[in-house]
Amino acid sequence: MRQFLVPDSVGGRIRLYSTLMVGVPLLFAAVVLIVFVRASILENVEKGLLEQAVSHKIVIEEWYQEQERNIQFLAELDVVRHGQVEKINPILEHFDKTHPDISAVVMAGADGKTVGASSTKIMVDVSDREYFIKARAGEAFVTNVLIGRTSGKPIIIFSHPVKRLDGSFGGVVFLASRLTAIDDLMNNLRFGETGETYLLNREGYMLTESRYQGELRRQGRIQTTAIMTIKNNSDVLRTGLIGKQPTKPYRDYRGVKVLGASQWTKDGTWLIVSEIGYSEAIGPLYPFLWTIIGGFFISIAILSPVFLRLARSITQPLARISEISLRMTRGEYDQTCFDVFPYSPPQEIDNLVEAFCAMQAKVDETVQELETSAVTDQLTGLPNRRFLMKEGARLVDIAIRAKQPCTLFMMDIDHFKNINDTYGHAVGDIVLKQIAQAFQDVIRSSDIVARYGGEEFAVVAPGSDLESSQVLAERLRQEVAAHIYNTDELPLACTISIGIAHYAWDIRFGVDAYEDMLARADKALYQAKDKGRNRVEINRESEG
Ligand code: GH3
Ligand code: MG
Ligand code: MG
Repeated sequence: MRQFLVPDSVGGRIRLYSTLMVGVPLLFAAVVLIVFVRASILENVEKGLLEQAVSHKIVIEEWYQEQERNIQFLAELDVVRHGQVEKINPILEHFDKTHPDISAVVMAGADGKTVGASSTKIMVDVSDREYFIKARAGEAFVTNVLIGRTSGKPIIIFSHPVKRLDGSFGGVVFLASRLTAIDDLMNNLRFGETGETYLLNREGYMLTESRYQGELRRQGRIQTTAIMTIKNNSDVLRTGLIGKQPTKPYRDYRGVKVLGASQWTKDGTWLIVSEIGYSEAIGPLYPFLWTIIGGFFISIAILSPVFLRLARSITQPLARISEISLRMTRGEYDQTCFDVFPYSPPQEIDNLVEAFCAMQAKVDETVQELETSAVTDQLTGLPNRRFLMKEGARLVDIAIRAKQPCTLFMMDIDHFKNINDTYGHAVGDIVLKQIAQAFQDVIRSSDIVARYGGEEFAVVAPGSDLESSQVLAERLRQEVAAHIYNTDELPLACTISIGIAHYAWDIRFGVDAYEDMLARADKALYQAKDKGRNRVEINRESEG
């Protein structure tokens, strides 16, 4: 039964199996590599991301504390505590100028009205603001991220109460700090080429600029800035909210597959997210994969000539055997079976070829023997009647077509019955054999002499006309007559009668030329018998 996908030929199968032999272990190696190496790469990357988030957390907290120290420092200045309004403004301005992160430093009096500011001199009432209320209660305060009214950029307000020298409430100082420092940090310290670090609040809004700002704007997902407009709902936030780390790749806010880690900071209000594109993270895996794929093709390239030789060493002898077998079925036995194969065949195939060729030689020999014995007379060793009928007809046919003369002799031993009757059958046989030998000594190699049956013989003499045939027939007759046949019993003499016929030059349609010759030669033989035996008679009917 034909199996699915398995090639028919030995060569095809060797190719398929050798490919599998090389491919399967390499595939296995590739799978192991992908599973284990990938896991280890992902683990390392996640570790790196987490470390980065932690280091960001440290930097952010330091920045945060610095802002708190700054505002505390301002609140505790003597000028501020004395409420010396005219001296406050230059200090605030100087402070603003020397701190690039700070967009404004403001002081409000105990009534909530601003008394000094680094930027605007317009008086504002902040008495209803949360930081003022907190300050009145004696507390420092930090707002959430707010969008600055004038800049449109995110800011955080750090405030500190002002305590007069007598201990009473003297107002509040507050500074608006831009997140630029954090933004810069986030944008400069990131993982890999595609890595990104950003801050989220608990609702998932981005507090820092996305480095893919341009891309997001092109996609129409944001208008101006990603800050507070992109809501992140990815795994990193979901796991972060339950105090965990993402354990597998996930889609980030852009829908790109990433690996990430997170850290809470600012008392759990900000989530620092550190991410890297998944395809970049597993990039180191590709050289391994290419090595395996390359290894596969190199192995095939190295091994295929070897397998090709193996295939040929098997298929070539087999092809030879099939070819010989096919010819044998067509009756062509006499052929050279052995062959020298370019790729020395394996032992078993060698044995097969040897055995097959021995068998072929035996068949050839047997067939030749059978063919010979089928056309040979057992007693005399002369060709038999079957041979005469076939080969004689063929020679006559050739002669007719070549318009060459050809004659047929019918020969019969005279009074042979007497020999049998007098000396017995065995003696008759010996005489038959010796007469056959005498015939063979006289005729030419181009002639055929055959035992026609009993004590009758025939000769087909191509190239002989009636006249030359008569000479030949005379020689045959004389040879037999002159011979003394030595049998066990006694020497005895014996004669033959011969009738000759030529083929008809004007053979009529539908008449077999050979049969016609045989009949007329027989007729001539009877005439010879009639005319007293031991003589040659010619049938001349063929001459018209
Ligand atoms: P004729 O001169 O008229 O030919 O006389 P004849 O006796 O030769 O003729 P006939 O045809 O009457 O006899 C032929 C004899 O040849 C008869 C048969 O016993 C004998 N004979 C035929 N074949 C063999 C054979 O193979 N061996 C022997 N020993 N005798 C054979
Ligand atoms: Mg006879
Ligand atoms: Mg006879």
